[in-house]
Amino acid sequence: MTVRVVIGAQFGDEAKGKITDYLASDARYVVRTGGGPNAGHSIHLPEGQLVLHQLACGVLRKGCVGVSGPGMVIQPFALENEMQDLERRGLLRGEVVLSDRAHVLLPLHEIEDGWEDDLRARKNPNARLGTTRRGIGPAYADRVARWGIRLTDLSRPALLRERLELLYAKKTQLTGLPPLDELMARLTEVGERLAPFIRPTEPLLWGALERGENLLLEGAQSALLDVDFGTYPYVTSSHPTSAGALVGSGIPPTELDEVIGVAKAYTTRVGEGPFPTEDSGPSGEFLRRVGGERGATTGRERRCGWLDLVLLRYATRLNGITSLAITKVDVLGGLEEVPVCVQYVLPDGSTARDVLPSQAEDLVKAQPVYERLAGWPEFHERTKERVRREGGRALPATLRRYLARIEEEVGVPIELVGYGPARDETVRLEPQGPGRGAPSLEAWSG
Ligand code: GDP
Repeated sequence: MTVRVVIGAQFGDEAKGKITDYLASDARYVVRTGGGPNAGHSIHLPEGQLVLHQLACGVLRKGCVGVSGPGMVIQPFALENEMQDLERRGLLRGEVVLSDRAHVLLPLHEIEDGWEDDLRARKNPNARLGTTRRGIGPAYADRVARWGIRLTDLSRPALLRERLELLYAKKTQLTGLPPLDELMARLTEVGERLAPFIRPTEPLLWGALERGENLLLEGAQSALLDVDFGTYPYVTSSHPTSAGALVGSGIPPTELDEVIGVAKAYTTRVGEGPFPTEDSGPSGEFLRRVGGERGATTGRERRCGWLDLVLLRYATRLNGITSLAITKVDVLGGLEEVPVCVQYVLPDGSTARDVLPSQAEDLVKAQPVYERLAGWPEFHERTKERVRREGGRALPATLRRYLARIEEEVGVPIELVGYGPARDETVRLEPQGPGRGAPSLEAWSG
């Protein structure tokens, strides 16, 4: 039995969806542990591309259970559409389970999200967070302040009405809310339709642990957007860390075996907030264009820059990452050299290698120090074919050196490398010997 968690190790959009889907092949349960309809995990199947928002990728695999866990805030109407869409395309092959403890994201949360960000911007244009306006922050705020409505409440009309009335009484600043009776009716109806899927998920997962089945916890967003340890206040409203995945699923910490950190071979960020290696010139434009860096959920353009090893070391420590999955190495193919940031120089002249200043404005002023590594050739179909056949040894030598340098700098092994969007364009690297420490450069060369 293995309990694994997949964590985004940068600012999101690292291709967690693809890596989770890859790792789901031997999992009996895949659990989404946080977030809501703001997350969009893209997966390229032989049948075409799809984006999962609120369902765990386990729902795509026969014999697998995809659990939307208690740590999530679920927009029930969007979730229903997502299920129907998959069903229509014949892709809903696994089982769907929704935690009765997950909170309900309501239309008023969406209105509140926009209202709050506009209020910030009116007070101070620099204070806008650039949220997705999908209501995630307000839904989490109501959850912790104990105003929230949970999926379990949808089947209790008296309780649901009572809680809705409280919420409406509290949010007097908002305009354009749907009439309470109308919302009540819609929620009761969607609750009835989703009822077959809503159940307590803790006993389900604890039973799986007892039977020794494989569990995969699928984190949404990413470590550097953690509400406590990210670049506050430019963060999400939950804990997208390995610890947060445990809280968001009800799995005890002592059961966790592996933490897989997913990082792109470069860095992107969407929305506002510090981004030390951001490149607003031609290199950033190159990464955006070749990497297709546009939000899966919102369509927003992503900010782009080179790989930041300070952030990766920090994420590794914070999450106890045991191995890395490096994705989108093909995007950098054809470049003569590839810079990586190995440390920052902070405004007071000190250097930082694996810690993040707690003040976002200090991080904005951090100067990245780059090391320039040799690039690798473009990934033609011929190369991809060889990698499929022969594994990691067929990756270009300079790319293997790039990966080895990351391992050396971060101190954990790279186990998976993504070299294209398709489901089979992920290669597992062979362990380099007993103990699987970071391999030496010699071990990788040639
Ligand atoms: P997630 O939320 O972390 O799953 O990230 P996204 O949904 O934004 O996914 C990243 C995008 O990159 C998606 O369009 C993927 O299909 C694509 N992708 C994933 N892995 C690779 C890869 O190794 N190479 C390339 N070129 N694209 C990839």
